[in-house]
Amino acid sequence: MYPNILRHPGPTPIPKKVELAMAQNMISHRSEEFVKLYRETTERVKPVFGTKQDILLLPSGGTAAMEAAVVNIASPGDEVVVVTVGAFGDYFVSICEKYGLKVHQLQKEWGEACTKEELGDFLKPLSNIKAVFATYNETSTGVLNPVGQLGEAVREHSDALYIVDGVSAIGGAPAEMDEWGIDILVTGSQKAMMLPPGLALLSVSDKAWKVIESNGSAAAYYLNLLSYREWAEKGMTPNTPAVSLIMGLSAVCDLIDEEGGFSKTVERHEVMKNMVRKSMNALSIDLLTTEENASPTITAIRTPEGLDLASYIGHLKKTYHLDFAGGLGPLQGKIFRFGHMGYCFPSDILEAVSLMEAGLQDFSYPFEPGAGVKAAQEVYLSSLRKS
Ligand code: PLP
Repeated sequence: MYPNILRHPGPTPIPKKVELAMAQNMISHRSEEFVKLYRETTERVKPVFGTKQDILLLPSGGTAAMEAAVVNIASPGDEVVVVTVGAFGDYFVSICEKYGLKVHQLQKEWGEACTKEELGDFLKPLSNIKAVFATYNETSTGVLNPVGQLGEAVREHSDALYIVDGVSAIGGAPAEMDEWGIDILVTGSQKAMMLPPGLALLSVSDKAWKVIESNGSAAAYYLNLLSYREWAEKGMTPNTPAVSLIMGLSAVCDLIDEEGGFSKTVERHEVMKNMVRKSMNALSIDLLTTEENASPTITAIRTPEGLDLASYIGHLKKTYHLDFAGGLGPLQGKIFRFGHMGYCFPSDILEAVSLMEAGLQDFSYPFEPGAGVKAAQEVYLSSLRKS
């Protein structure tokens, strides 16, 4: 009866306009209508990636796009560097190792970001590195890596390709793929892109295309990026695409336009991030990340002192229909994750903080009722005065 208030790191709520777009009559993926839809939509997504390169669409989750990036550029025995600051950096390590690559892992504590200097120092003694992999937004910790600066380190200390997992960032965080020297940027539909799961988006630089051409994508068939590029020139995909999701993606582009362009979407995410952070400060509940590394799409909140986290977030879901995600790996039981990406607005943050406070009262947690909501409101009001 009650709608689930999904404040997760993905999947995320779907706008009605997108749902309706996806409910259109099916069309053939070899039709003129599809070619028009594909060409127009992929063109309109480019500002969200910050690229002039083509956007390729894979009928898959984000993992397949990460795997495509690995298998198309490297061969067994190639040496790569993976920057890991949490679960999804580790994920890139696993994919690379599965394909027989030799991984040099720059590992940071969960909750920290990697700096340009750290990556530079790590790369200096290494030679023959084929690619450097990094996660833009580490979904397990709510850390936003400074991927623009990390790209500078890659260029200053190597000739390697620079490959970025943007899965929980793209659509909510600023992205300048071309300017930041990113060679392959990948994302999935179900997070800040306001779509259901099932569509992966990726873009490839000229430098990476040369490597892919010489590599011949020997190990890949379904994920062969050369065939995606060949078919994209005809406005199509090599196999049956996720047609409905592409219709939905077109509606997502309309929504971004209605908001005033992608820079406005980024601003909204920044406001929501600040609302969540300031409200937790006001409730004296600790955050996992520093201000500097904080993600605009997801905030990791430490377990309020003295509370049993599983009982608290279980109670929020059962009683108030407010659905947060718990911590992963070493952070299980220690943090919960408050998603504020995609189809999420300041009013949704006010709602979630208010319900969080109701839950805290139910657990007799000592705090000043209303303090979190007030702090969030102040951030919101001051953002309205500025705009
Ligand atoms: N990378 C990041 C940063 C993610 O958050 C996720 C999913 O949560 C993935 C990769 C994997 O994406 P998918 O589950 O769509 O395969």
